[in-house]
Amino acid sequence: MQPYFFVLAYTCGLMTTCTMIYSYTQAQVSRQIVRRCIVGLGFGSAGILAMLQPLEIEPGVIADARGAFVGMATAFGGPVAAAIAVALTVAARVAIGGSGAALGAAVILITTALAGLWLHAFKNHQSRDNRAWIMLALSCAVPTFIALHSLPAAHSLIGIFFAGMTTIVVFSFGKLLHAEQHRGRRERQLAHAASTDALTGLPNRRAFEDHARQLEETGAQDVMLLLLDVDHFKAINDELGHDGGDNVLQDIAKAIRNTVRDTDFAARIGGEEFAVIVELRDATNPHQIAERFRAAVQIPYGSAADRKVSTVSVGGFCLSGRAFSFQNAYKHADEALYRSKRAGRNLVTLFPSLQVA
Ligand code: GH3
Ligand code: MG
Ligand code: MG
Repeated sequence: MQPYFFVLAYTCGLMTTCTMIYSYTQAQVSRQIVRRCIVGLGFGSAGILAMLQPLEIEPGVIADARGAFVGMATAFGGPVAAAIAVALTVAARVAIGGSGAALGAAVILITTALAGLWLHAFKNHQSRDNRAWIMLALSCAVPTFIALHSLPAAHSLIGIFFAGMTTIVVFSFGKLLHAEQHRGRRERQLAHAASTDALTGLPNRRAFEDHARQLEETGAQDVMLLLLDVDHFKAINDELGHDGGDNVLQDIAKAIRNTVRDTDFAARIGGEEFAVIVELRDATNPHQIAERFRAAVQIPYGSAADRKVSTVSVGGFCLSGRAFSFQNAYKHADEALYRSKRAGRNLVTLFPSLQVA
């Protein structure tokens, strides 16, 4: 009985490790494709580890819980994770070699195909009830069971053991991972909501400060901070009403989003105030960049007979060859913005030159 207990404990240990990796990536990794690759790598590696501690039926013929790992990779990571897990486990089974290698690799492929069908049938997460988890468990267990059953020697006990264990492990860990999937999604949604401005969809002040602090911590250099404040926005609100003012703010945010490059960071940091952190990587003149934003954020509003254009005043602080200090940059950019306002609005002022353009 001892080897059976060992395999059971070992398989549960591997599944627990996979569950922990899965929970962590669900909550922490925002890019879906990265999460899926990690699922494939995690379950694929666990599948290999399972094959390295098998029950040996005869030289070159081994029994293990690999079906559980490739099935779970497919169910929880889709085609990307399935492809990675299959590539890893099939390569490992072929490398282990022996007369059971071809059948062993076939079990992996068939299990993945069945788990893929399960994923298709239970695409809708609401439909994943106990019956669904039993179906997934059987998809993972049956190919292994049939393969072991087809062997010439009488190994029915091993077949029944692996079929039973795989069914129970996939059923229980499947439900656990499902709960983790939901928890992770909820956490990502909350994190997104906490850092996003609801009106414009831009990052909010908190996200802006986090980003700035990160730049500080990494000792970023050659950065420009721009503050953009809509000119006479109170008058726009008075003319269009609060909702009309909101629409103008949304259009402004869209214009800013269209103007930033991938390496820049734009946020709405107050009512009608926006901030952009620009990485000054190339030889582009900082003034030209700031001007681009001022010019882009000119939003027409009002009736056709009385067309007006909203404008922004821009204040900026530019660091070249010096480490970024958020407090310092903000103070100076704010001062520059004040100068743009005082000089007549719809203008750019950059510190340290403090020239109004
Ligand atoms: P200045 O050119 O000096 O910046 O003038 P201003 O009128 O833009 O400046 P002020 O800061 O006095 O007014 C900002 C106005 O923005 C006041 C406030 O009611 C409005 N506001 C703030 N947040 C929102 C918002 O979310 N939606 C709308 N529609 N208005 C907002
Ligand atoms: Mg303001
Ligand atoms: Mg204003």
